Amino acid sequence: MRKQVLVTGGAGFLGSHLCERLLNEEHEVICVDNFFTGKKRNIVHLMDNPYFEVIRHDINFPLSLEVDEIYNLACPASPVHYQFDPVQTTKTSVMGAINMLDLAKRLDAKILQASTSEVYGDPQVHPQSEEYRGNVNSIGPRACYDEGKRCAETLFFDYKRQYDLNIKVVRIFNTYGPRMHPNDGRVISNFIVQALKGEDITIYGKGTQTRSFCYVDDLIEGIVLMMNSREGFTGPINIGNPGEFTILELVQKVIELTDSNSKLIYKPLPEDDPLKRNPNINLAMKELGWHPTIKLDDGLKKTIKYFRELLESGLDARQSICTTVST
Ligand code: NAD
Ligand code: UDP
Repeated sequence: MRKQVLVTGGAGFLGSHLCERLLNEEHEVICVDNFFTGKKRNIVHLMDNPYFEVIRHDINFPLSLEVDEIYNLACPASPVHYQFDPVQTTKTSVMGAINMLDLAKRLDAKILQASTSEVYGDPQVHPQSEEYRGNVNSIGPRACYDEGKRCAETLFFDYKRQYDLNIKVVRIFNTYGPRMHPNDGRVISNFIVQALKGEDITIYGKGTQTRSFCYVDDLIEGIVLMMNSREGFTGPINIGNPGEFTILELVQKVIELTDSNSKLIYKPLPEDDPLKRNPNINLAMKELGWHPTIKLDDGLKKTIKYFRELLESGLDARQSICTTVST
């Protein structure tokens, strides 16, 4: 059955892949985005589809639409972007969530929240399972995002308890792939772009901190399965790849796969940078029958191909993010 689906943040990295996936499943998709970090080029290939619609809108303001499902992805995700205008980040996480929850309530629509592994902060439990309550610094530079996303989870569960709203909450771990923003400062985009340009590769700290990297196709499969999961199952649920790598292991892979001559340079570790991160995905395996299938090397090859073509086309243009967002 063709459903009407709203994707907020639909012109971003994950949102654009999600819009594409939902259109392939023959749903009608409305993409809402204020183009803060999203790009038209991420969705331009979908524009000819008569079942695809784009609305330039900031979710901090109410929106009136008729849809069956809402995926709430709008929020800058890379530390550089979410710390650029931290007040706006908190507003988007909290007021944006309230606006989307109110819309879902009015329509009696199902709503999925793109939460994050950052709700675990710098974790003292490893790997992180959903019961872990986290270790977040509420006044540090990452707090606008971490606490904003934690508050959004609170709101989702309060709308469930108070209004019996049909909610789904997904905690996304580091995800990578084509359409990442070339200048968003995330480790995979930084390393690949630096390696392809022959620039020095920036390691923060000693590079012994770990992350677990999920390829975008695996992630999208997980969140769509979560949206379609059994009635009453709310999560929160971790979606990520449990393969854990140090940043130094990652850089070696990128150098090998790009055949780069770049040198490594070391820069200070950013404040509150989590030392390790790895999802426990037992719940996703049990509830959704989901586990990631794409190995880091294979995902990196696809991502390198994307960035190579982007750099060759000159479209990366070292563009910075849009600074004209409303506050
Ligand atoms: P992204 O920055 O590429 O996409 C975010 C999109 O939201 C952009 O298109 C941006 O323009 C839009 N946006 C931001 N604020 C908005 C607002 N107020 N109103 C309307 N649109 C707005 O980031 P992404 O990696 O695609 O992340 C998507 C979602 O997934 C985010 O909510 C993020 O917190 C979550 N997430 C991502 C990762 C990851 O590794 N990519 C990890 C954890 C959580
Ligand atoms: N990192 C790095 N060099 C870079 C960018 C990031 O060493 O050029 C490190 C960063 O300090 C962190 C890890 O890579 O420990 C992942 O950073 P990213 O910004 O991708 O995501 P997050 O910290 O939100 O997991």
